[in-house]
Amino acid sequence: MVIYFHAMVILSVLLSAIFVLRWRRGISVHFPIIFVFIPVINLGYLCVATATNVNEALTANGIEYLDGCFLELFFFLYVMNFCKLKLPKICTALLMTAGSVMIYIAINTASNGLLYKHAELRRVDGVSYLIKDYGPAHTAYYIMIGFYLAVNLSVIIYSFTRKNISKTNSALLLTVYMVIIFAFLCGHPFHPAFELLPLSYLFSQVVFLIIMNRINLYDVSEIAVTSLSETGSIGFASFDMKMKYLGCTDPVLDVIPELADVYVDQVITSENSNFSKILESVNKLQNGRDSAVFYVTRNDITYKITVSHLYVGNKRRGYQLRTEDNTLEAKKMETLQLKERQKEMESEILKLEKTAAESANEAKSAFLAQMSHEIRTPINAILGMNEMVLRESGEENIREYAENIKNSGRTLLSIINSILDFSKIEDGKMEIEEADYDTATMISDLENSIAERAKSKGLEFIINADESLPRTLRGDDIRIRQIITNLLTNAVKYTEKGSVTLSVKKYSESEGKVVIAVDVSDTGIGIKEEDLGVLTESFRRVDMNHNRTIEGTGLGLAIVTGLLDKMDSQLEISSKYHEGSTFSFKLAQKVVCPEPMGDYRKKDHVSADKSAEEEKLDLPDAKTLVVDDNKMNLKVAGKLLSLYGIKADMVSSGMEALQVLSEKQYDIVFLDHMMPEMDGIEVLREIRAKNLVQENTAVIALTANAISGVREMYLSEGFDDYLSKPIEPPELERILRKYLVDQ
Ligand code: ADP
Repeated sequence: MVIYFHAMVILSVLLSAIFVLRWRRGISVHFPIIFVFIPVINLGYLCVATATNVNEALTANGIEYLDGCFLELFFFLYVMNFCKLKLPKICTALLMTAGSVMIYIAINTASNGLLYKHAELRRVDGVSYLIKDYGPAHTAYYIMIGFYLAVNLSVIIYSFTRKNISKTNSALLLTVYMVIIFAFLCGHPFHPAFELLPLSYLFSQVVFLIIMNRINLYDVSEIAVTSLSETGSIGFASFDMKMKYLGCTDPVLDVIPELADVYVDQVITSENSNFSKILESVNKLQNGRDSAVFYVTRNDITYKITVSHLYVGNKRRGYQLRTEDNTLEAKKMETLQLKERQKEMESEILKLEKTAAESANEAKSAFLAQMSHEIRTPINAILGMNEMVLRESGEENIREYAENIKNSGRTLLSIINSILDFSKIEDGKMEIEEADYDTATMISDLENSIAERAKSKGLEFIINADESLPRTLRGDDIRIRQIITNLLTNAVKYTEKGSVTLSVKKYSESEGKVVIAVDVSDTGIGIKEEDLGVLTESFRRVDMNHNRTIEGTGLGLAIVTGLLDKMDSQLEISSKYHEGSTFSFKLAQKVVCPEPMGDYRKKDHVSADKSAEEEKLDLPDAKTLVVDDNKMNLKVAGKLLSLYGIKADMVSSGMEALQVLSEKQYDIVFLDHMMPEMDGIEVLREIRAKNLVQENTAVIALTANAISGVREMYLSEGFDDYLSKPIEPPELERILRKYLVDQ
């Protein structure tokens, strides 16, 4: 029999040791107390069984009362906690006090006689036991036991009605309780010294170990839950490895209300979208991820849900789910996304604006081409007719008027040309076309074009040309001339007395290249320092108090800088107000003939004015056809051609031209471009397709379309040359000479 009591002590100590080994932080605090009390109580039973005198036995017997005084109390506290019920602290304190008083009385019953009025130690089969005569304290003890019996059973039964409490655990707790009660009621079944209670306590230890193992995860979660839920809207739920639901805190139910209908220990399935998201996340974890996140939006609040492994110690025991209000972060994300969208939209708008600007530019170019054509056509007539007046009138004053008309007409034309050039630069359509040119010729031509104007204003025009400049260079001489002419024209325009100087110097020379330095300086009105920066802006004219009477559009310098920019150069301006200005730039040109050009004046170069010195042209036999839809233009062309003895045939449409050409052969055909019904290019295509002209017949494009670059367009369309309207007699003569005389 004594062995039984020894065994009970040893086994309960062993079970407590197992508990200690399996104990983890976070496990309900009631467990260790229960596991300490049980071996002590069992020790009490052993001590009674081995007691040699009654006092010893009574003290040991008092220890057994830990059962009703404290074991029941902690069992009760545990069950309350298990059912998530809270006992007011005062009640716990009162129960503790009652327990303490009772145990004090029990241990000291030998001296106080409150528990037992009388006790006697008996010994049967080597086992001691007490025969007791119960005192008043024992009645109080029974009341206490009765109280615990009632509340514990009520709470355990209540736990069965709660959804979020594991029914298995409730059943286990109930079993433990029933076994202890049964053992208590059984008394001494086989032997007056035999007690079933130590065995029932052993049983309860085993069951608690099972419960502890089962609810381990839940309790771990519970600890985490309490700390997290205190921080606000963070929720916490846990599942075991088989996705058995273990429990959750209230905030989780706000996010995933479906969990409220799930029993603890129930395996969750993908019966609703939230559960399937949880299961998907768990899948991700099983595939090696540490955590998986998904979002749920409920009542305009976005929750971030993080699913991760649930560790007990360092062992994975399940999955935990953490929910948190992610609205702020979501808002941030939303703002970020909005910003990105905004950026995308902005770049789309930019693209659209660019396209719009491009098409606007194209429209502008087309408009300018059209305008230029429309303006040039009447000017063509005015200047053409005026040319006739100049040539045919003998009256001095009439010739003077005509001269004025000619000058103003030319100014008007140069303004149109400037606008066209400028718009081309703006559109980026200005191309630099390189050709070989004679350096001396260029300087000489520049001199010729400006000298007269300078002279008429009483200005000295000085040219300092570096004789060591290479004889032939390669570059876009037409644009270089345009730049220098613009600067020289300005110098003359803005200078009242003194001089205008053009200096062209060799700045540096290297393998096959020369850098020429061009300076145009004057002793004119100069430019105020504050105006220097804005001079090259388009349509910008400065110092208007002084310059009001001087003609200008404010485009000259904008074109100069645009062209220089195209040639990788830039304009430098230095000026002193009322003293004069210097405009300079440097330009790299390829050297074709490195021989020094020498004195440009003495050079036997081909000058633009050369034709003037040549014999008068007389071509009465030249078979010439002019095609133009404008009667006035036809008249002007006819008159100008007649200056060279030519009697031209005139037709006013493409169809007529084709008709005439199929009947008669011509030496030269002047074909207008813009005509209604069939334009010049279409007519030329027909001519070429039907072989209507001989091989040596020159077809010249006659056009008021003066946009830079059109010459190339006409040549590529198959015209032999290009003559712009208003027809300049020298240009007409050049063409007649080239195609009728020189061939
Ligand atoms: P504009 O057609 O008015 O001459 P430009 O673009 O050629 O246009 O010149 C812009 C302005 O720069 C002129 O209006 C004038 O005030 C000033 N400017 C240009 N060249 C000179 C110069 N050589 N001396 C003084 N001012 C000049």
